[in-house]
Amino acid sequence: MPAMVILGAGTAIPDADREHTHLLWHADGQLVLIDVAGSTFQRILRAGHDPAALTAVILTHDHADHIAGMPGLLVQLGLHGRGGSLPIYGPAAALATVRRMLAALAPDQPLRLEWHEVVPGAAIVLPGMEPIATARTQHSRVCIALRFSAAGRSLTYTADTAPCPAIDALAAGTDDLLHEAGSATPSASHSTPGDAGAAALRAGARQLVLVHFSPRQIMPVAAAVAAIRAAGYAGTVSIAEEGDVHAW
Ligand SMILES: [Zn+2]
Repeated sequence: MPAMVILGAGTAIPDADREHTHLLWHADGQLVLIDVAGSTFQRILRAGHDPAALTAVILTHDHADHIAGMPGLLVQLGLHGRGGSLPIYGPAAALATVRRMLAALAPDQPLRLEWHEVVPGAAIVLPGMEPIATARTQHSRVCIALRFSAAGRSLTYTADTAPCPAIDALAAGTDDLLHEAGSATPSASHSTPGDAGAAALRAGARQLVLVHFSPRQIMPVAAAVAAIRAAGYAGTVSIAEEGDVHAW
């Protein structure tokens, strides 16, 4: 069954119960990690999956809350006995930054990494599954949003972004929209809950899930939902919690 697991749902500053936002996509024999936080190995275990079964990693961009866990994760996978190869996808800058981190902190790992630059807008093609569409977000780094499709349904993850036409185009007609809401006020590189509601309305999404959000740091849940409704979005709204599984 296709499923997106919320491994972390918080902002760049973790809360006690909200690690940095990162996700695990499980479909068609693939187990794909989207971004990496400090406790990713443990969170994959909590989600009931074997970290050694990862088939690919996608890095959205090179901000620390999205990639800083890579050296630790690779050391842990090596100690766990994972060998073979692992493809890593992401914008060129993100891959370059991670390679420097790994050279310093995790050299000589048994896992052979295969580096695949993603030009924003080009799809990521993994064996046996539908291509993952991408779009460049509006952010302070080159960053990619992702649209996953399986069994006639789609889920779009915005990664970090201010509202922009490329996100609207990627998300148009999506069933589930996992939208960041990392800012309380309008921003050049992040979205507010109201921005997320407006994007969900434009996309025609059935469900809006706020990620990269903190009720403590951004605004209380009731205020976030009120902002989404004020933006005109009438579909299902939820605040992502760690361990949530969006399956179909
Ligand atoms: Zn960022």
